[in-house]
Amino acid sequence: MSFSKLGLSAPLLQAITELGYETPTSIQAQSIPLILQGKDLLAAARTGTGKTAAFALPLLDKLSLKSSRRAKYCRALILTPTRELALQIEENINQYSQHLDIQTMSMVGGVKLEPQKERLIEGVDIVIATPGRLIDMVYQKAIRLEEVEMLVLDEADRMLDMGFIEDIRNILERLPQARQNLLISATLSENVRNLAKTFVHEPAEISISADNSEKVLVDQWLVTVDKSLKSSLLSHLILENQWQQSLIFIRTKHGAAKLVSQLEKRGIKADSIHGDRSQAMRNQVLADFKAGKITFLVSTDVSARGIDIEQLPRVINYDLPNGPDDYIHRIGRTGRAGAKGEAVSLVSYDDFRNLCAIESKLGHIIARKEFAEFMPRKVVPVSILNFVPKNAKTKVLGERERESRPPRPNKDRQGKSPYAGSASKNGGNPWGKWADK
Ligand code: AMP
Repeated sequence: MSFSKLGLSAPLLQAITELGYETPTSIQAQSIPLILQGKDLLAAARTGTGKTAAFALPLLDKLSLKSSRRAKYCRALILTPTRELALQIEENINQYSQHLDIQTMSMVGGVKLEPQKERLIEGVDIVIATPGRLIDMVYQKAIRLEEVEMLVLDEADRMLDMGFIEDIRNILERLPQARQNLLISATLSENVRNLAKTFVHEPAEISISADNSEKVLVDQWLVTVDKSLKSSLLSHLILENQWQQSLIFIRTKHGAAKLVSQLEKRGIKADSIHGDRSQAMRNQVLADFKAGKITFLVSTDVSARGIDIEQLPRVINYDLPNGPDDYIHRIGRTGRAGAKGEAVSLVSYDDFRNLCAIESKLGHIIARKEFAEFMPRKVVPVSILNFVPKNAKTKVLGERERESRPPRPNKDRQGKSPYAGSASKNGGNPWGKWADK
């Protein structure tokens, strides 16, 4: 299959050739002809499968057929859950549309309103927005949505998780009836389908399952370690293995800042990105990381989704995320578009419930590696693979809650940990020299 068979116009084919795309990914081969035909679409696909080009290329093709740019109106609206994802999509669309007369802008919070308003007055075709900022702009009469021809809801599952449902309804009410709708989501859960029913009409449905060739090629492994030794272990792994560019995920903003200084004390230069830093700073740090000027980037989940860093070799879970979907999104930052990647997790005893949930979802145990100096005193048992959280809410435990409720593995189902007892063999306190300062 080649791109030229999908019905895209010459300027788009030229742009994708210049980007080095040779063959369409599976979601692109399926979705592009359907979108060009004008069908609504419901697609289950994760980042890393080429989903952005899958909706953006036909969207650009259709918009470029006529030119009707008007101040304060837009013709295509792409809604995303995070600012980072909106900026990422804007960057991709600018690359794909470089030989077309199409104007694209991102409309995200955390930056001044005025430049965005001015840009709308100059006239844009495509707006990529986070819901909150878009609604602000609508209320301020800076943008009108009555001429939207195409709507894309990207990462719909994440939008719902982040509580954007009312904002989405509010936006949908302002759109004209006659338009094409595309909904993309990592999973087509019941909630996502219920949302889709409210605005997607007789959609074609596409599902890119994990068995497809775009399957993330990520070598996953973990080290069990006491919480107090995590930063020492991380420094050890980085220095011993001479690791280069790595994205390090951590649970809290405070933890991110602390880890940067702990790494720096050990001679490892790092920077951080989290919700307490200004949007301008987040953009700058991310751009520097993408350009290779920053080698180690410590991040909270603000960048778990959407961020596309070419040939990122490694993702490190300093803390496990609070759910398997976030784990999959995090490790999806590496091993993208067929490249190989590595995902390393540092797992302590209080991560056990999250580990069970993640390994249950993956359907397999993640390989463990041991490092003599870092054998945990609190052994992390082998997961219960059929672990199901009692209810969706209890799996998202707050820091304090997690501290006060240690995991209780079921002894009968758990099996014997191959690591059980190993820590006690070490005796004494061999961790002293590594303990976090
Ligand atoms: P996405 O899933 O949209 O985030 O895309 C993941 C990565 O794949 C991005 O770096 C894209 O530039 C790249 N990509 C998308 N489509 C193709 C393709 N057909 N061939 C090669 N790379 C692609």
